[in-house]
Amino acid sequence: MPKDPVPGLLRRASEALEAEFAALPDFAPAMESAADTAAMGQVLEATARRLGDNYPYFHPLYAGQMLKPPHPLARAAYALAMKINPNNHARDGGRASSEMEMEAVAGIAEIFGWTEFLGHLTSSGTLANLEALWVAGQLAPGRRIVGSEQAHYTHRRISAVLKLEYAEIGTDNRGRISMEALEAELRKGDVGAVVVTLGTTATGAVDPLDEVLRLKQRYGFRVHVDAAYGGYFRLIPEALEEPARRAFAAMGEADSIVIDPHKHGLQPYGCGCVLFRDPAVGRFYKHDSPYTYFTSKQLHLGEISLECSRAGASAVALWATQQLLPLVPGGEFARGLARGRAAALELDRRLRQDISGRIQALAAGAPELDIVVWKLNAETPRQASEWAQRVFMACATRDLHLALVELPLGWFCPAAGFQSGNCESRGAEAGTVTCLRSVLMKPEHEAWLDRIWERLTAACAEVMGE
Ligand SMILES: *Cc1c(COP(=O)(O)O)cnc(C)c1O
Repeated sequence: MPKDPVPGLLRRASEALEAEFAALPDFAPAMESAADTAAMGQVLEATARRLGDNYPYFHPLYAGQMLKPPHPLARAAYALAMKINPNNHARDGGRASSEMEMEAVAGIAEIFGWTEFLGHLTSSGTLANLEALWVAGQLAPGRRIVGSEQAHYTHRRISAVLKLEYAEIGTDNRGRISMEALEAELRKGDVGAVVVTLGTTATGAVDPLDEVLRLKQRYGFRVHVDAAYGGYFRLIPEALEEPARRAFAAMGEADSIVIDPHKHGLQPYGCGCVLFRDPAVGRFYKHDSPYTYFTSKQLHLGEISLECSRAGASAVALWATQQLLPLVPGGEFARGLARGRAAALELDRRLRQDISGRIQALAAGAPELDIVVWKLNAETPRQASEWAQRVFMACATRDLHLALVELPLGWFCPAAGFQSGNCESRGAEAGTVTCLRSVLMKPEHEAWLDRIWERLTAACAEVMGE
């Protein structure tokens, strides 16, 4: 592991924070006697050894799931906030961190051009989506929610929890919602909200939000954008291709947006965000609390959030990160995002040019964001799936950590004519195949691509033969 700057950063900041409370009479914390310190040290070392049983998420050779190391500043600010452990439910529990949350959330809303909005952090993208669909249900009771087959799996479950009917819409051969199938569903006249995913979890596909918004004028429904993973890509339109660029450009017209700072925003887990374009939806949250909201007449975040206690430290870490790395096009944060995207395009280019014949890229073209998927070339889908599993393992023994994903076979067949090895008959289109998947979301992935490629090709050769 590289040398960790956090302990050094924390030392002076800790002293500064202690100075803020220096006027209080001293006391000895009951749980921190000198003898306990030695015991704590021992347990902490044992803890460190337990934590060794993990994939090395922080390393550029970890290129599997959506795991991006938090910025050192975010870790330091989070740890610093732990000296206070604020609760952003109410100003009673977290005065400063509530203010910081509002500022940080305003910084996120600005990405989408929103200055008047309602929004707050949540403990996850799932909770944020739940709030958005809950509001949709309040506004159109009894109407259905629809999302694509590639929308996050939790939308169906959230809808069940909210007792809203949910329907899945088919996708095209790269995982974008099918506009024909969506319109057919809308014609039934009972759709209350459409979940539009900008950056699907499996492949980073971008639903055509601009086109969905055009249908909204005709059919009247709420548009909820799930950009838990993809939202920050709005900062780098120059690095995107059409039609994804158009979809991101239209985000300001959505009714609600979910974006996860703990996905691409360099934050520790426990940091999602939901935004509503119309602040008036705040009325649905209205409630009294017999315990809190006494210390200030100003807005308490618990008054506009379904959750009660929430980590104030999450807001503190996010606020600090956005101070250092403002969420602006062309800024350092945006450039980091663009480097991961460049790595994904380069990996995809190599997959397509691979002359070994072992690899098959998505027929529809290059990745839309920074997730790359590919299938292995085999006689049968079953063999391709088995090889994918084995290549995944063979990469891991070379310290390269990828992910696996089950995708429709048809996505690998050229649309016109099924000449290629695995698409000889129309029947080959049906069914799914296990594919390899790599989320190249760290800026370092760009510089490490040669080393990633070396290991991948060696693993393929080992499993599939020379
Ligand atoms: C990750 C993700 C979610 C769920 O967010 P969590 O923070 O994991 O709860 C929802 N939608 C999309 C598109 C995601 O990528």
